[in-house]
Amino acid sequence: MSDASADSLVVSRDPNHPANLICELCTLFYNNGWVTGTGGGISIREADKIFIAPSGVQKERMVPDNMFVMNLPTREYLRVPKSLKPSACTPLFLAAYTNRNAGACIHTHSQNAVIISLLYDKVFTIANIEQIKALPKITEPGYFGFFDTLTIPIIENTAHEEDLKDSLEQAIIDYPTSTAVLVRRHGIYVWGETVWKAKVYNEAIDYLLELAIKMRQLGIPPDGAIGSERNTRLV
Ligand SMILES: [Zn+2]
Repeated sequence: MSDASADSLVVSRDPNHPANLICELCTLFYNNGWVTGTGGGISIREADKIFIAPSGVQKERMVPDNMFVMNLPTREYLRVPKSLKPSACTPLFLAAYTNRNAGACIHTHSQNAVIISLLYDKVFTIANIEQIKALPKITEPGYFGFFDTLTIPIIENTAHEEDLKDSLEQAIIDYPTSTAVLVRRHGIYVWGETVWKAKVYNEAIDYLLELAIKMRQLGIPPDGAIGSERNTRLV
């Protein structure tokens, strides 16, 4: 469907309309090197509707008219832009919406996520770093504290993006305190209660991933006790 009434779903002068926000965030993420070469994707939920960036469009050139709109309860497309394919990330976004009641989901091909997935086996852990406090505990109100350990699961990549759905859903169930899932040699999925929270979580996690890579390069364990880094430096 792409009639005039469906087009009205993505036309708005409000900069906070999901179709406009997806374009703004795609440009921002492109400039951060997270969604280069059409990789990655973003989806935002507004009540029962989800807005999804298309497949194969250069992220920095995305326009609201490119957006797919789906009815979340029925999974029926309310708007399909001409000559575009829905994002292969769509089943993964749906997993975050249905299992976590997310308000938005972000998928990037961040190099920090890829490198971390090569340095860790089943989970990435980091502790005693101030930036952890930007991330929600999920299973209880509030955010992680400075002395907490953050754990993010890592799943294996598949030949096709949509085939990640089952393992991503299992990771969401197995790691109820995580608001993200790393995909080995591929990237990361991050979601949040709102699009702004998802953006903050994605930025905070990427910062922690980059920091962990640098700490390991210096021989400092990212999940080590406070003080262990000083011993490491003396060795
Ligand atoms: Zn991907």
